[in-house]
Amino acid sequence: MQQAGGSTLSAQKSSSDIVFACTHCAASFVVDSAAAGMTLDCQKCGKPTTVPNPDLNTAAGNSTKISDLQHQLKENESQRTEITGYINQLGIQLHRWQLRLQTLKQRQEKLENDLAAIRGPTPK
Ligand SMILES: [Zn+2]
Repeated sequence: MQQAGGSTLSAQKSSSDIVFACTHCAASFVVDSAAAGMTLDCQKCGKPTTVPNPDLNTAAGNSTKISDLQHQLKENESQRTEITGYINQLGIQLHRWQLRLQTLKQRQEKLENDLAAIRGPTPK
């Protein structure tokens, strides 16, 4: 047990930890709740095993998780909208530049033709 100033994790851990059994060798492990849903290598048999999500069993944990996920989804969505907006803007700008470049190329050809016409046939 750590003294004051140390981490309070040890106190919180017991309530947020997940106890689960490896699906291969049935060895039981304790992991942090942050690992829920993740696939870890079993410390005993070394095979990948998936950590179950304990929140599925607790309505309170579930609603917290749901609102958290919904919040993250919303944030993700707004960032996607923002980035999509940037891409659209740049796409339009790119199109404009391509048109401009096309116009400049045509103008160059015309100018070169005019120049050649005035100079007449190049001497041999
Ligand atoms: Zn195992």
